[in-house]
Amino acid sequence: KEELNMIQGALELRTKTVEDVMTPIGNCFMIHSDTVLDFNTMSEIMESGYTRIPVYEDERSNIMDVLFVKDLAFVDPDDCTTLKTITKFYNHPVHFVFHDTKLDSMLEEFKKGKSHLAIVQKVNNEGEGDPFYEVCGLVTLEDVIEEIIKSE
Ligand code: ATP
Ligand code: ATP
Repeated sequence: KEELNMIQGALELRTKTVEDVMTPIGNCFMIHSDTVLDFNTMSEIMESGYTRIPVYEDERSNIMDVLFVKDLAFVDPDDCTTLKTITKFYNHPVHFVFHDTKLDSMLEEFKKGKSHLAIVQKVNNEGEGDPFYEVCGLVTLEDVIEEIIKSE
């Protein structure tokens, strides 16, 4: 029965979208690019337990960078380095995908690319102004794999 569930999960990759499995933006652990990397913030980052952390500017929906926890290896908390200095140095590419991306193509992208995290975007056409892209969450390889191996 385990096997049947996995086959079922694998077949569903063609119909389910990243929006179905992502972590919604409200639940994402992110940090502002102006943050100073002192002892407190570095502890908070460590305690979050996440390996990849989106970095935003101005508002949470404006993601500019991703911090990898291993980028902090050479940071001395007493130097009060700003996060921006670190993200500029490592300059990891930020991988964006649309909310309606099917999980099978997401899995292909994760296999091809180097990063296993993508920022999920969607078009916001509410309100008077022109439609614009808005970040609605993040999705990782783990979210896709979980969809395959979950047992009901
Ligand atoms: P790794 O397992 O490679 O160390 P991780 O534990 O930080 O990385 P993943 O294993 O990729 O993260 O994902 C586990 C779950 O955590 C997934 O549901 C994913 O959407 C979620 N997740 C990953 N990064 C964040 C983050 N910065 N904030 C909130 N949720 C996150
Ligand atoms: P992450 O992708 O979460 O940053 P990572 O790149 O260190 O972690 P994995 O992505 O889990 O490691 O594994 C990639 C490959 O590297 C796997 O084949 C794994 O067996 C191998 N690997 C992981 N850690 C080591 C290590 N310390 N020495 C040699 N090989 C390793």
